[in-house]
Amino acid sequence: MKDSDKAASGIAEKTFPALGTLNNIRIWDARDSRIFDKVVQRVTEIERRMSAFLPDSDISRIRACAGRGFAAIGEDTFRLIQKAVGFSALSDGAFDVTLRPLVELWSIGENGGRIPSDSEIAETLCLAGYRDIEIREDSFEASLKSPGQALDLGGIAKGFAADEAGRILRESGVRSAIVNFGGNILTIGEKPDGQPWKIGILNPFAARGRHLCILEASDEAVVTSGGSEQFFIKDGIRYHHILDPRSGRPAQSGLLSVTVVGPSSVDADALSTALFVLGPEKGIPLLRTAGAEARCASSSLSRFLSFA
Ligand code: AMP
Ligand code: MG
Repeated sequence: MKDSDKAASGIAEKTFPALGTLNNIRIWDARDSRIFDKVVQRVTEIERRMSAFLPDSDISRIRACAGRGFAAIGEDTFRLIQKAVGFSALSDGAFDVTLRPLVELWSIGENGGRIPSDSEIAETLCLAGYRDIEIREDSFEASLKSPGQALDLGGIAKGFAADEAGRILRESGVRSAIVNFGGNILTIGEKPDGQPWKIGILNPFAARGRHLCILEASDEAVVTSGGSEQFFIKDGIRYHHILDPRSGRPAQSGLLSVTVVGPSSVDADALSTALFVLGPEKGIPLLRTAGAEARCASSSLSRFLSFA
């Protein structure tokens, strides 16, 4: 839709970069133009605390004292680490918030990516293990057991940020909006005509704009993880950015993408990453704990799966 059309139809829109992606908010019943500033400020704060790239973030400071002691961190970061550890345990380590060294070894989507040797993978995998995180709830401190270990909230932080954006919008009286933080979609209320939002799930390997399916959602998160956004191709093989902590390599569960629908964006974010690693048979039972459901596109697109 052109800007002039949006103004005419009363839609207010904001797009801004943060958390390594482009974030978009569209509000159909905007009353206060400062609402976007509030959301951008909050998301910037989340990034400042949780980014693995900013040297002074909570995540970087935990890394700097890995093997040596605890780092005092913000309450938000503390709670998100707690949540991430919960999903790491729930998924039996398929989602693992300590994969940062392995993510850097492959550097997929960060520096173009390269295929590490078997010994590099084995050495780096020794640094992974969510059980090596220790936390102190009374003082909001966290530590990692061994030097070289590091956290990566990349699989869950955008979901948290989307929930926070949703909270701010609702508290400001917004009843009809869509938040899209790099594939983490949060629907607020319903369309102005009272119908549920229709969210198109892209076919990961068709021309841009071709949909695999259209989901209906109201006050729900719709979060997609897949191997088609960040990847490199070497010798005809596609290496994508979601890694399997068991093999140390890009996950190969037979899924091309998985979309989780549920009440919480942060939960749906962690679950979609976990399901992409685990595949539907092992992953689907995890959804019940979060009251979520999933749609999965399998490697032969003729098998499009839907689970409740
Ligand atoms: P998402 O797009 O939410 O599925 O998250 C992918 C991002 O999560 C990657 O770019 C990594 O930063 C991180 N990541 C990759 N593999 C895993 C994993 N198995 N568990 C947790 N985080 C991961
Ligand atoms: Mg995720």
